[in-house]
Amino acid sequence: MNQRNNRRLVLFPLPFQGHINPMLQLAQILHDRGFSITVLHTDLNSPDPSSHPHFAFRSIGDGLSQSEASTLDLVRLITLLNARCAAPFEERLREEVSTQDAPVTCLIADALFSFPRDVAERAGVRRMVLRTGGATSLRVFAGFRLLRERGYLPIEESRLEDPVPEFPPLRVKDLPRITGEPELLERILNDMIEGIKDSSGLILNTFEDLEQPALSLLRQEYPIAVFPIGPFHKCGPSSSGSLLAEDRSCISWLDKQAPNSVVYVSFGSIASVNESEFSEIALGLADSQQPFLWVVRPGSVSGSELLENLPGCFLEALEERGKIVKWAPQHEVLAHRAVGAFWTHNGWNSTLESISEGVPMICMPCFSDQNVNARFVSDVWKVGVHLNNGLERRKIAEAIRKLLVEKEGEEVRERAAQFKEKASSCLMQGGSSFQSLDGLANHILSSES
Ligand code: UDP
Repeated sequence: MNQRNNRRLVLFPLPFQGHINPMLQLAQILHDRGFSITVLHTDLNSPDPSSHPHFAFRSIGDGLSQSEASTLDLVRLITLLNARCAAPFEERLREEVSTQDAPVTCLIADALFSFPRDVAERAGVRRMVLRTGGATSLRVFAGFRLLRERGYLPIEESRLEDPVPEFPPLRVKDLPRITGEPELLERILNDMIEGIKDSSGLILNTFEDLEQPALSLLRQEYPIAVFPIGPFHKCGPSSSGSLLAEDRSCISWLDKQAPNSVVYVSFGSIASVNESEFSEIALGLADSQQPFLWVVRPGSVSGSELLENLPGCFLEALEERGKIVKWAPQHEVLAHRAVGAFWTHNGWNSTLESISEGVPMICMPCFSDQNVNARFVSDVWKVGVHLNNGLERRKIAEAIRKLLVEKEGEEVRERAAQFKEKASSCLMQGGSSFQSLDGLANHILSSES
C-alpha cells in the first residue's frame, strides 16, 4: 500500500449491484494509492459499511417510496433518483467540503447520475466520472440519437439481421434494448454523455488489449482524459459489495468437482426469466450431463421458482451433479479450477470477470448493453458462443458440451486462456492499466496545482 496522502475522494455509486461493485472496487484501488475514501450513497440498496471499515459511508436521503424503489422500470427509477437526490446530495457534499480534515480533492460519480455536474461546479469540487460499462457500449449509447435518426431504433423485428455499419460487427438485434419512456431514456443518455464530456476525466473498468479500438475512438471524440484501469477486481484484494448474502457452500461443492467440468449459470442482479424459460434452462442443464452451479436469485423467475415444479429428470440431475444457490461469491466461483464455462446474461461486470479468469461464456443477453457485450464476446474476442434463437434444451446442452468437453470448443477455450493472460499482464508494472492508474492518481493530485 502507498503512503496516505491526506487527500480525500468522495465517491457516489448508482444504487444497483452492477454499479456498486465497480465503484467500491475503484474506492479500494484508490485507497491503496493513499487516498482517503468517503462513499456517499442512497438509502436504496445502501452498501454494508462493515465490509469496508476503512471507508467513511454517508447516507443521503433519496426520498423514494417503497413502490417507487421497487419498480422494474429502470429508466423511471434512474430519472426519479436524479430528481430526488440532487438537493440532499448537494447538502452532503458541502458538509464534506467544509467539515473534514483531509480536503476533498475530487468527486467521482457514476455516469448515470446527471446532477453531480452542476452540484460539483457550485461547490467548487473537481469531478470525474466512472462509467461502469465497457468502452464499446458507451460509444453505442452515445450514438443513440444517430441510430434513431438512421432508423435502426426503435428496433423493428423485420430488420433484426441488418448490419449496423456505424458500429461493426453489430447487427440491429445487438443494439441496446431498454424498456421505458423513450424521451426519459434519451434524456438520461444525453445527460450522461454531456456529463462525461465536461468532466475532468473518465474512468473505465476495461483494459487496452480488450477494447483498444473503442478506447482510441473515445479519446478522439471526447476532449478529456480517459483512464481504462481494469479489470478493477483483479487490481488487489477487495471486499464484497454484494447486497445479497453470498452462499459460500458452493465453494466447498466446487472443491469436489473435476477441473474445468462445471458450468456456472448466473444472470446477474436484475435480469429475470419466465416460468417456461426456467424449466427449459433446467432441462438443458440436465441434458448436458455436466455438473452445474446455478444461481437462482429470489424474484428472478416471473412465475413460480419452486424447484419442486421442475421436471423430474432435472431434479435427479440436481441431486447427482448440481448445486443451486440464491447468490454466489462470483469472483471466487469464476476463479475456481472446477469452473469451465459461464452461462451469463453478459452484464459488463460478469463479462469482464469471466474474461479475467479465462472462462469461456455462453451468452444469453437480456437488455441494455448486454447484447453489445455478447456480440463482442462471440464475434470479436471469440471467447464464447451465443445461444441463438431462444432457449431450447437441446441447444443449451450442445453449447455447454461444446465449451466444456467437445473438441469443437478448443479454439474458444484457448482464446479465453489468452485473454486471461492479457487481463493479468495489463495490471503488472508497465502494463497498460497499471500505467493508466498511475496517470489517474497523478491527474487527481494535479488538480490542486
Ligand atoms: N454477482 C455475484 N453473485 C451472483 C451473481 C452476480 O457476486 O450470484 C455479481 C457479479 O460478480 C457482478 C455483479 O454481481 O459483479 C453483476 O453485475 P453485472 O454487470 O454482471 O450484471 P447486472 O447485475 O448489472 O445485470
